[in-house]
Amino acid sequence: MSAPRTSAGRAGAAGRAVRREAHAKLNVFLRVVRRRRDGYHEIESLVLPVSLADRVTVRPADRLDVKVRGAERLAGAVPAGGLNLALVAALAIADVCEHGGGALIEIDKRIPVAGGLGGGSADAAATILALNELWRCGLDDDALAEVGARVGSDVPAMLARGPVLVSGRGDRTRPARVAPLWWVVVPFEFGVRSPDAYRWWDEDGGPSGPDPAPVLRAAEEGDAEALGRLLFNDLEPPVVARHPRIGRARDRLLRAGALGAVMCGSGSSVAGLARDRRHAEALARRWDGAIVCVGPPGPPEPPLRRGGRGPMGR
Ligand code: ATP
Repeated sequence: MSAPRTSAGRAGAAGRAVRREAHAKLNVFLRVVRRRRDGYHEIESLVLPVSLADRVTVRPADRLDVKVRGAERLAGAVPAGGLNLALVAALAIADVCEHGGGALIEIDKRIPVAGGLGGGSADAAATILALNELWRCGLDDDALAEVGARVGSDVPAMLARGPVLVSGRGDRTRPARVAPLWWVVVPFEFGVRSPDAYRWWDEDGGPSGPDPAPVLRAAEEGDAEALGRLLFNDLEPPVVARHPRIGRARDRLLRAGALGAVMCGSGSSVAGLARDRRHAEALARRWDGAIVCVGPPGPPEPPLRRGGRGPMGR
């Protein structure tokens, strides 16, 4: 998804750092179509990159290593060694890059972990793009997507240049158009493992959501009022049945005036759709730790002035 963009630091031969934003994603809708024989699930989803992002920096080093920084509740929840998806991604690109070798990967963690916001996949995608530049691998988009798919089903979507409609196991992507939309994300201190969410969907009889054509149209037109009523996630009912707090957060967001609210990915976070930035900020003030974001992400925003409208305020 979000083409994690270079935000600073030119690269490569001069041996300097390459930095990429690793954007979190929201699933505007997530339809589980069926369980496949291989145990994976066939899904359809509109994956929307948002402004909430980790920052990934890669620097030349003798060997591959990863360091995670950030608030203890975030950085402490992420594996530091070979289980880190950024390191898995580095090994995958090193395998196909002529000049692949060592690098220090530094992750500034801001995306809640195991919250259904795709933080690990985003870090993996940003690492692949940054190392492609640092090591001058010269891989094109198709080759990068192949590397991403070897790391995880969600990684190709995070390598795309914006919102994508995904299908298959989540690894097939088509670009989609989505007008900028403001969201408030309510994270929880507990996570939900994706395999558990899909297993619960199986156990509960696995109903599939509606034809996504109307939700795609509303997202493209930026019709937030219509979109709010159309958001859906087939994993939400089985996960909420096991984690009622998620359902209560969704209901509270709706009572507070969100245009719609839906669980993110396989949980645990909940996203509420707002009319505009000011509305998202007003909603966020009701929850400790709520995060305001816009998707697709635009350029960095100046603080909203009292009585004024930000450049993206609608
Ligand atoms: P998924 O839907 O794939 O389970 P998620 O979006 O719910 O992912 P992530 O933040 O990606 O949640 O974390 C999922 C798990 O991946 C975590 O429990 C963590 O142990 C592991 N992980 C590995 N590398 C990373 C990383 N760089 N950032 C976050 N989590 C990572």
